Amino acid sequence: MLNKNKAYACYSIHESIRLKSSSGGLFYLFAKQILEIKGVVYGVTMSEDCKEAYFTRINNIDNIHCLLGSKYLQADLRDSYKKVLNDLLNDFIVLFCGTGCQINGLKNFLEKKLNLKQLENLYCIDIICHGVSSPGLWSKYVSFLENKENSKLISVSFRAKDEGWKNYGMRYKYLDKTKFIPKNEDPYMSMFLKNHSLRPSCYNCLIKENIESDITIGDFWGINNIAPIMNDDKGTSLIVINTSHGDRLFTKIMDDIKFIDVNLEEAIKYNSAYYKSVCKPANRNSFFDDLNTISFIKFLKKYNFKKKISLKKIIKKVFKHK
Ligand SMILES: Cc1cc2nc3c(=O)[nH]c(=O)nc-3n(C[C@H](O)[C@H](O)[C@H](O)COP(=O)(O)OP(=O)(O)OC[C@H]3O[C@@H](n4cnc5c(N)ncnc54)[C@H](O)[C@@H]3O)c2cc1C
Ligand code: SF4
Repeated sequence: MLNKNKAYACYSIHESIRLKSSSGGLFYLFAKQILEIKGVVYGVTMSEDCKEAYFTRINNIDNIHCLLGSKYLQADLRDSYKKVLNDLLNDFIVLFCGTGCQINGLKNFLEKKLNLKQLENLYCIDIICHGVSSPGLWSKYVSFLENKENSKLISVSFRAKDEGWKNYGMRYKYLDKTKFIPKNEDPYMSMFLKNHSLRPSCYNCLIKENIESDITIGDFWGINNIAPIMNDDKGTSLIVINTSHGDRLFTKIMDDIKFIDVNLEEAIKYNSAYYKSVCKPANRNSFFDDLNTISFIKFLKKYNFKKKISLKKIIKKVFKHK
């Protein structure tokens, strides 16, 4: 039975996976389902030097860890569309998880080459999308950090839950140390969250009214207003079922999640990225001009993205020294 636009608050019952995932760890469960029936999964990983995010294909659950977690920059599709086509032509079941524009682009590409029967083996999941940051900016930021820390970055988590899901931060693992920086104190995250660093199309995202995925997943930011019982600050997902195909996949993971039905209209009141684009900051053009012309340190100072210490942290420090 089709649960069109049914929405749920949910999270995985497997806590260790949930803590490694951005929200409630739902992507992992969908991917596992597909891999268990010998299918293949496309998701986003980081390059070894941490400077790039890109789509990769996995066919084994042992390789799934590199796909977990949001990467807050535009991911390079590489040749993933062609690989998906090839997989579908070879009768594989395929799961592709990306932004709405990447999903619609994939569908557009495949619909010209495959018939409806062949397309039935494809499952698409889009993430509720605030927008994606410039990969060029991220790459410069990594060089800046490595210079500052005098060490090589070996992994990064954009959604580290060290201080909880809502107070997430960046975890940078260097060759010789690990640093956690709360989201509002990290210059890169500030540029992303304040919308300066997004790609031009993200300020007028046409996809939000025309989602072609089977399932949409995101953070359930309004959970305390709607179902506080589902919030233990380890990550709760908002899931929207868009097609009967998606409904069938969702049914298969139900034994591995805690969930409740929610009213979609109510749920998205606290998650505007689901239905509208963010505003373009007035100085967004000069932001990118400066990124390409002045030194990175001057650039951070000019746009006031220096590391800011939160009031909570200052109070904590004061009490520690008393
Ligand atoms: C750039 C970006 C902006 C987002 N904005 C919002 C928002 O405003 N509101 C909201 O509720 N949720 C947003 N999300 C979604 C949220 O952060 C989680 O990705 C989502 O809820 C899935 O979480 P999970 O725990 O199920 O799985 P996770 O393990 O966190 O999901 C991992 C999978 O997400 C996909 N993914 C990760 N990074 C990217 C990327 N750069 N490009 C394309 N796909 C990617 C890949 O398939 C990856 O394998 C955003 C995610 C991204 C990447
Ligand atoms: S905001 Fe829209 S255009 Fe930008 S990455 Fe997300 S889905 Fe694509």
